[in-house]
Amino acid sequence: MNLVDVHCHLNHALFKDDLPEVLKRAEKAGVKAILTSGVNPPANREVLQLAKNYPIIKASLGIYPIDALGLSERETGLPRQTEKINLDGEFAFFQQHQKEITAIGEVGMDFHWTKKEETGEQQAENFRKIIRFAKTLKKPIVIHSRKAELECIDILEEELPNNEIPVDLHCFGGSKKLVIRAAAKGFYFSIPPNILRLEHFQMLVQLVDLKQLLTETDAPWLSPFPGQKNEPAFVLETVKKIAQIKGLSEEKVAEQIWENYERVFLSRS
Ligand SMILES: [Zn+2]
Repeated sequence: MNLVDVHCHLNHALFKDDLPEVLKRAEKAGVKAILTSGVNPPANREVLQLAKNYPIIKASLGIYPIDALGLSERETGLPRQTEKINLDGEFAFFQQHQKEITAIGEVGMDFHWTKKEETGEQQAENFRKIIRFAKTLKKPIVIHSRKAELECIDILEEELPNNEIPVDLHCFGGSKKLVIRAAAKGFYFSIPPNILRLEHFQMLVQLVDLKQLLTETDAPWLSPFPGQKNEPAFVLETVKKIAQIKGLSEEKVAEQIWENYERVFLSRS
């Protein structure tokens, strides 16, 4: 089986000591590609270095919406961004390294860590800028849309009237209605392994065609097993659950998701 993790954070402090073992377990589970997402300038540089060191790791460079505003106030285990990100400066860096980049992300909007009334306009403006830039690089984008699902879909539809680049909605928390709308537009959804515990993702998988589903972990977060750190090998848990919901074999699901991965991420990098 060829498995893929299209979104995680292997530059996180929690992987500092055991990354080689984590990658070995992933390979043993059948994982052939792991997209590691950056969130800010220092994280993006770490991600590029990881992709250089380990062929299984692919770089997805991002600008996390809260980091773009310089508002990451808490310690997350990722490099902390306390100043506004100079978007044009970071775009120049992406451009310079475009051959080493598989995707742009995570990017998007977030109204969990800040209030929409306070940062909504600035976030929307940054997000539009980032989408327009991703279009010039012709790279797929991985979207973070926590508590801002409707706002993100509205902007993506406006900025990508002809689906100029593929869109992966990572860990999408939007309503059933919004899932149907985004699926009709042709967007993809990457499903984390905590689908084992969360009915929301089970509902999403039921609604969306297998041809538009991808697997991710968001490791080290969103573990399927309480108290245990998440890691790329656990995409297998997502595949098993999707197989159960769709009434298909795990092999069939893995095969289709790999095909989706190639269509979204490999045809353009
Ligand atoms: Zn993430």
